[in-house]
Amino acid sequence: MVEPSFAERTLVKHTDYLINGRVVTSPAIGITDKEVLTEDGHTIIYDYLVIATGHADSVPRDRKDRLEQFQQGMYN
Ligand SMILES: Cc1cc2nc3c(=O)[nH]c(=O)nc-3n(C[C@H](O)[C@H](O)[C@H](O)COP(=O)(O)OP(=O)(O)OC[C@H]3O[C@@H](n4cnc5c(N)ncnc54)[C@H](O)[C@@H]3O)c2cc1C
Repeated sequence: MVEPSFAERTLVKHTDYLINGRVVTSPAIGITDKEVLTEDGHTIIYDYLVIATGHADSVPRDRKDRLEQFQQGMYN
């Protein structure tokens, strides 16, 4: 929890600082050596491509799943 005035300052639109780029909000579903294909049907040509998809941790999302995880002894 933070002060509302601080929370407001932490929400920044990508378009506010990416003034020399284009924000695309769609999963990438295909990549060739020249272009990226997005789920919404666009093709984006690139010179250099950085893939930074992170990774999906299989962490328990709700109370029931967390309790099950403790019972399995994953955290000692
Ligand atoms: C609950 C939690 C708390 C954490 N707390 C801390 C902390 O206090 N301090 C700290 O240093 N680290 C913390 N971390 C770790 C930190 O969040 C990650 O290490 C960091 O965000 C990884 O950055 P990233 O850019 O590699 O990936 P992400 O931040 O995961 O970014 C990857 C992005 O790629 C997008 N993406 C994936 N696949 C596609 C696709 N096919 N097409 C288009 N987009 C795609 C995803 O939607 C996502 O937006 C925390 C993580 C979690 C889960």
